Amino acid sequence: MTDDTGSDEPLAGMPGRPARDAVVIGGGLAGITAALALADAGIRVTLIEGRPRLGGLAFSFQRGELTVDNGQHVYLRCCTAYRWFLDRIEGTALAPLQDRLDVPVLDIGKPEGRRLGRLRRDPLPVPLHLGRSLATYPHLSLAERAKVGRAALALKGLDLADPTLDTQDFGSWLAAHGQSARAVEALWDLVGVATLNAVAGDASLGLAAMVFKTGLLSDPGAADIGWAHVPLGELHDRLARKALDSAGVRTEVRTRVTSISTDENGRWSVQVPGETLQADAVVLAVPQREAHELLPDGALDHPDQLLDIGTAPILNVHVVYDRKVLSRPFFAALGTPVQWVFDRTAASGLREGQYLALSQSAAHDEIDAPVATLRERYLPELERLLPATRGAEVKDFFVTRERTATFAPTPGVGRLRPGARTKAPGLYLAGAWTATGWPATMESAVRSGVSAADAALSALGRSRPSDLFEFEEAA
Ligand SMILES: Cc1cc2nc3c(=O)[nH]c(=O)nc-3n(C[C@H](O)[C@H](O)[C@H](O)COP(=O)(O)OP(=O)(O)OC[C@H]3O[C@@H](n4cnc5c(N)ncnc54)[C@H](O)[C@@H]3O)c2cc1C
Repeated sequence: MTDDTGSDEPLAGMPGRPARDAVVIGGGLAGITAALALADAGIRVTLIEGRPRLGGLAFSFQRGELTVDNGQHVYLRCCTAYRWFLDRIEGTALAPLQDRLDVPVLDIGKPEGRRLGRLRRDPLPVPLHLGRSLATYPHLSLAERAKVGRAALALKGLDLADPTLDTQDFGSWLAAHGQSARAVEALWDLVGVATLNAVAGDASLGLAAMVFKTGLLSDPGAADIGWAHVPLGELHDRLARKALDSAGVRTEVRTRVTSISTDENGRWSVQVPGETLQADAVVLAVPQREAHELLPDGALDHPDQLLDIGTAPILNVHVVYDRKVLSRPFFAALGTPVQWVFDRTAASGLREGQYLALSQSAAHDEIDAPVATLRERYLPELERLLPATRGAEVKDFFVTRERTATFAPTPGVGRLRPGARTKAPGLYLAGAWTATGWPATMESAVRSGVSAADAALSALGRSRPSDLFEFEEAA
């Protein structure tokens, strides 16, 4: 573990420049990003993580021979910061993007039987790229499809910089723009629940507009979907650790920070069991409640607002069959409690049969349900969705529960999210929950880490690394 040398000795390769120390607290994507960015700028960085591994909320664990992700994670082509992160840790090839957006949507809720539709794009400019898909989307009536088109254009016209958007809920806006309950269920919530972790009626219009404008109405390829073809731990723990090691970051896992304080010279002390680390800059990249506990007095004008940022759960239901029951890598479902189903067989290392993960967002009603109840509920639903499961043997059934998977994207949350700078010089905040403009995603986490590093580097008088993720100019 590093300690304070109190030195101003020049860094190797940087003659005459005083060495600077930073401590990054929290080894999720925000903290890893901040640590890499600071180290790439020549700062001596120590990264402290309480758990035995890096990756925070996006991690893997072993269950017998199976490597399991705590929850299915996807990203979109418009997630430019997370894509930068994948490049930085040399993981891009392991989490490829679809060539072109293509989401199979299977509806089993209609008396006429199962029906498959697709949301896909054509090689045409926005918004025509989705025109054909919408026009032929079988899960909506002709009138509903026309109204969806009109609402999409109205959404495109919203100014994301308008703070009043965050005071309204997306559901009311959709209703006011002629969207039927069916259109909300079969289209808006299909995308929105997975990306926002809330149904439209519970989501801030500002965040929803941000997601739909950026993902579906900016660049034709923006919503192409990418996901890890390896366990998440391979990316966010092993490869991230390798990148941190090569950047010279000292990483300590299983080490919880218990307090942070500053002395009269503005130097920071970070307390971990048995040791005090000294630093010129501290990045606090922990969830909002932990940040609230660690923040020194006066660091934020309204620190208790952090406690007003709610959280929302995500449940993953994992089923291993003795045979192949699904031929696609993933699909979304309608007319059933099942939301999205992913084939995790190859990534998990399963040698025989097929392993499916059901990703159930905004799972407030089910997050504490006993496994037996979930089994009784979901296995019959999978039989309805995937006829090949009838007669297949269920080799394993288990669930992973993330009760505080994301911050709740409720109306008004925008004003509660602080930026990277605090009132305490040298102390910066990062985390998907900070004011990035994005919902709680890997993209938001990486952006927040870059913002915190940028703020720290500017205060330390260091230039940002030339290959660090660049924020786009506001249009
Ligand atoms: C089931 C699930 C599914 C998801 N699906 C998606 C998805 O499909 N796409 C997407 O983009 N995002 C998804 N997300 C959200 C995404 O995982 C998070 O937004 C992102 O990983 C948050 O990163 P973070 O670094 O901000 O915070 P965290 O990952 O929470 O990291 C904070 C870290 O700080 C550590 N820590 C806390 N206190 C201390 C302390 N005192 N000392 C030391 N360390 C401490 C914690 O152990 C943790 O590792 C999902 C999340 C979950 C849970």
